Amino acid sequence: MNPVDTLGRPLRDLRISVTDRCNFRCTYCMPKEIFGRDFEFLHRDEILTFEEITRLARVFVDLGVEKIRLTGGEPLVRRDIERLVEMLAGIDGLHDLAMTTNGSLLTPQKGRALREAGLKRITISLDSLDDQVFMAMNDVGVPVSRVLRAIDAAEAAGLDPIKIDMVVKRGVNQDSIIDMAGHFRGTGHILRFIEYMDVGNTNGWRLDDVVSASEITRTINEVWPIEPVAPNYSGEVAERWRYLDGAGEIGIIASVTQPFCGACTRLRLSADGQLHTCLFSAHGHDLRRYLREGDSDDDIRAHIASIWRARTDRYSEGRSANTIPLRKVEMSHIGG
Ligand code: SAM
Repeated sequence: MNPVDTLGRPLRDLRISVTDRCNFRCTYCMPKEIFGRDFEFLHRDEILTFEEITRLARVFVDLGVEKIRLTGGEPLVRRDIERLVEMLAGIDGLHDLAMTTNGSLLTPQKGRALREAGLKRITISLDSLDDQVFMAMNDVGVPVSRVLRAIDAAEAAGLDPIKIDMVVKRGVNQDSIIDMAGHFRGTGHILRFIEYMDVGNTNGWRLDDVVSASEITRTINEVWPIEPVAPNYSGEVAERWRYLDGAGEIGIIASVTQPFCGACTRLRLSADGQLHTCLFSAHGHDLRRYLREGDSDDDIRAHIASIWRARTDRYSEGRSANTIPLRKVEMSHIGG
């Protein structure tokens, strides 16, 4: 069964948030003032078990999903995550299994365990090479060197490609663009710049804080000339650019200034089994209830297919002063 939504979009990708907890308090994502000591994270029995996640993943693959990305919160804070990787890697028809992490817990042993379990590639978030800037952003005092060691560990484990994601926020880390580009040029790793988005309601987002894709490419082009490259596949979220001197490529995720809703083939599953049809949605569809009330796989498949068929989301294309204050799920709940 390969359902299409109301805008003719097929279902291809699934992001699974395995926990709502994170060991970072990035000021633009999980600010300490909100996600502090008193914040109520999900209880253990509210979170889907690995068996429940795998059961749902099989159903999603039956419906056309080819690619699964594990995210969070921070996926590596979930104990024995490699066991889930192994369970998912065994699903017939799943072509691509990836993870997005802040890297702080990615030791060489963890990297090897993930690779051996069947993880193919990894995306590691890093917002600056300047310790002062990075620590002010992660707000828990993790230095840049720890994430650079994680990148080495991922490489040593054979995870390939390795992508490095940098959210660019005006007045905060935009001066790190050239440093980051210079550091990762020629390494084979793909640095991707992400426009700062108005996800959730806790980061105090303002359009003025967004450094646009065109500003980012202009900044890099002045130092190392770049040219656009055709996408690897239709619906690829990052716009690809390559250095003219052959030092590799970079990506830009311009979801604010050049939204790509028309090609969005993605669903997001939160750690407690809520299915979101858009990163900017306010409400999820409760799949955990179906799992725990004894529905069959066929019932769950039919339910998800009907959610997908009814999907109308195109938040970023309709972003305006009126949509920005709307209630939206937090990024830490459904992952990036
Ligand atoms: N903890 C993991 C990590 O740091 O990669 C996975 C979850 S995190 C929510 C996924 C990605 O979303 C990170 O690269 C993070 O920087 C990015 N992100 C969080 N809030 C964002 C925002 N408001 N705009 C753009 N990207 C954001």
